[in-house]
Amino acid sequence: MSDLRLYFMECGSLKTQVQMIKMNQGLGDPYEVPVPFYLIQHPRGNVLYDGGNALEVAQDAVAHWGQGVVDAYTPVMTEDDFVVNQLERLDVDPASIKYVIQSHLHLDHSGAIGHFPNAEYITQRRELEYAFTPQWFQKPAYIRPDFDRDVDWLLLDGPHDDEYDLFGDGAIKTLFTPGHAPGHMSVIVNLENDGAMILTADACYTMDHYNRTALPGLIHSASDVADSVDKIHRAVDKYEATPVTGHDPEEWPKFKKAPEYYS
Ligand SMILES: [Zn+2]
Repeated sequence: MSDLRLYFMECGSLKTQVQMIKMNQGLGDPYEVPVPFYLIQHPRGNVLYDGGNALEVAQDAVAHWGQGVVDAYTPVMTEDDFVVNQLERLDVDPASIKYVIQSHLHLDHSGAIGHFPNAEYITQRRELEYAFTPQWFQKPAYIRPDFDRDVDWLLLDGPHDDEYDLFGDGAIKTLFTPGHAPGHMSVIVNLENDGAMILTADACYTMDHYNRTALPGLIHSASDVADSVDKIHRAVDKYEATPVTGHDPEEWPKFKKAPEYYS
């Protein structure tokens, strides 16, 4: 639709190793990945899709994430990278954010929660439940102070609420893509000039993951990961969309970044 703008934004990067992003590949090889999030301006309100890392990560990452996490995924972030500060530089008032859609609640996506007083925070019910009660192998990825907040949650229910149409006009729709996390959601943005874009977030870390040659290093269900990649392919065909991968150092530099935008 017209009057829709999509801004690509980045909350710094994570210094990690190839196998953390591409399971069983490049063991020990250094790999630095961007931490994307997105602002979507719709005539009826501003929408965030994720928010990068919490502000505390720029101040004392070890205190906020723990030494083990920082050793595995070393954040490169300054306070300027915090979502609220980036929006301020775009002249976007925190009070103008109407919805924050969470792809999932992992630590490099949860930085916006609680910082937008008029926002409803959209996540899958099963993702919020799992964030409070993760299995041992996912526990380090969920930082409870980030999401254990008194905010207005809008909870969706898996396949039942799939392709949830945010404003009822087809401009912004969620796509239920579990696997990396149990309640993961991608987002479809239907732009007038640039066509549809599917923001996959961590349903496809990189194009290898999209092209079915790698699983993500951190996984909840491999079976669901594979099904969700197939589902994203079907959505790409259906909407003639451009897939935008979630932590992809090869693809990310090819896209325009805020203050430039897609429309
Ligand atoms: Zn994740």
